[in-house]
Amino acid sequence: MSAPRRVLFVDHAGVLGGAELSLLDLAMAFGDRARVALLADGPFADRLRARGVRVTTTPMGALADVRKDTRLPSFGALAAMWRTAGALGATVDPSELLCANSQKAFVVSALAGWRAQRPVAWILRDILAAPHFSGANIRAVITLANWRACRVIANSQATADAFVAAGGRKSLVCVVHNGIDAAPFDVVTPADGQAVRRALHIPDDAFTVAMPGRFHAWKGQQVLLAALAQVPNVHAIIAGAPLFGEQAFADELRARAARLGVADRAHFTGFRDDIPALLSAANVVVHASTLPEPFGRVVVEGMLAHRPVVASNAGGVPELIVDGESGVLVPPADARALAAAIAALRDDAPRAARIAAAGARRARTLFTVGAMARGIEEALAAC
Ligand code: UDP
Repeated sequence: MSAPRRVLFVDHAGVLGGAELSLLDLAMAFGDRARVALLADGPFADRLRARGVRVTTTPMGALADVRKDTRLPSFGALAAMWRTAGALGATVDPSELLCANSQKAFVVSALAGWRAQRPVAWILRDILAAPHFSGANIRAVITLANWRACRVIANSQATADAFVAAGGRKSLVCVVHNGIDAAPFDVVTPADGQAVRRALHIPDDAFTVAMPGRFHAWKGQQVLLAALAQVPNVHAIIAGAPLFGEQAFADELRARAARLGVADRAHFTGFRDDIPALLSAANVVVHASTLPEPFGRVVVEGMLAHRPVVASNAGGVPELIVDGESGVLVPPADARALAAAIAALRDDAPRAARIAAAGARRARTLFTVGAMARGIEEALAAC
């Protein structure tokens, strides 16, 4: 077996999305052998430093303006990409392998690795398909991956399949599911959940669902609000923030809750750092993405919290949940089906408890940080 690699993980984001939370656990599991280079400063850098991970930031300038659905990057963005790649490449140690954790980070890392003569792997956490990405964007990254990547590590089979369907080389890809640390969920007490409810003024006996997630139309907060209108007396804790500039959508959600007459039962908490306690305040955890979800950390978190999870049946989610056994799958963007699934769990407590227990077991068996770190280590050995 080859010696373990020293890895320079690269991520473009300064904020804490799911990809960044997964990288945090991964970098900690790699210990001294890992460094992280970020293309933006922010709370993610602070969180990494607080956990003892070595971090450098190389700001990406105008490249920050390029979005997933951008067709043609501006000249300024391309120049910024080249500059950032040069700056990143200059920091790479000859013993290090570059491992990109996001699409933008992969583009910069591929160029940096080419300039520094270092191998580049890509942890692929996106479903490379419309409407998530523009056709031009997909073609550009697939071409770059086929040319420069030594390994593409997909976070689900669905993510891997989309890469290959878009023209990615099949022999490059392997699947390593995310792993999530169970420890923070295991130390939560009923009093923590009760405190969350009290702070949100949710009656102790009110049946409550929780949905954490980035605020974005495809994450489906609006579907949960529509479902709420169909299940009287059920409360919803809706945690998260518009991390990548979707403020108008966040404002519209509150207005929509008022229009639907559910504003007194829809509790918007903003971004929370206490997801285990927050989930324990709920009877059911909801995932409502309207488009295929690459993985869906919140699904596994609901399982770790010993809560029955109702989730959208698309993308990587069916790899996480066995429908009716370790969770409940519903068609995406179907508020009526979501409402029916929530009501069915409310009305059959023994079934809800059975599903919660099976989900908790499955998450602790299949989606551990150890398995994720080992899988990524093995995948990188091919580079
Ligand atoms: N999250 C959080 N606080 C919030 C809302 C979400 O810490 O207020 C976390 C959530 O617990 C999960 C991650 O953000 O770990 C979202 O990951 P997921 O894979 O579900 O979606 P992504 O943001 O990667 O698309």
